[in-house]
Amino acid sequence: MKVNVAQVRRNESGTAHFDLTEDFSSLESELDGVSFAAPVHVQLQVNNTGKSLLVEGKVLTELKAQCGRCLKDFIYPIDQIYEDEWVFTPEATEEQIETALLFDKDEIELNERILEQIVLALPMRFICSPECKGLCPVCGVNQNVKSCDCVQENIDPRFAALAQWTRED
Ligand SMILES: [Zn+2]
Ligand SMILES: [Zn+2]
Repeated sequence: MKVNVAQVRRNESGTAHFDLTEDFSSLESELDGVSFAAPVHVQLQVNNTGKSLLVEGKVLTELKAQCGRCLKDFIYPIDQIYEDEWVFTPEATEEQIETALLFDKDEIELNERILEQIVLALPMRFICSPECKGLCPVCGVNQNVKSCDCVQENIDPRFAALAQWTRED
């Protein structure tokens, strides 16, 4: 995914708008356990401040992930705000070298930067829905689709021993 900033860079206080869509499936090995279910759509507004190009935008896509409770694959939408600063390398200050995206050609490659945004948008644990009931720990049935008669004994082993003792008495 590339943008050409030739015009906006040469025009102080200039702005440019980019609307890009690209298939990122060749990059999904960098995402842990999820895959792309849709192309990545990026909308960017670029403003030349005279010191750098300030970028505001959005990263939109859909991922296929596995629910941590019921183990079913489901679609997880990504709608991530993206803010960035792009600086022409010869004009970069020390601080910008640390934090900004440096470019020395008018064509800027964004894949790494966009992928980072997607990683930031990933939850600690994927859950298909807040109401997901998960799998029965006894028979493994998906409790969202079927119910079972399993008795889920959640007895503290110390009480179990006590119950045993009472019975023998
Ligand atoms: Zn689930
Ligand atoms: Zn069960």
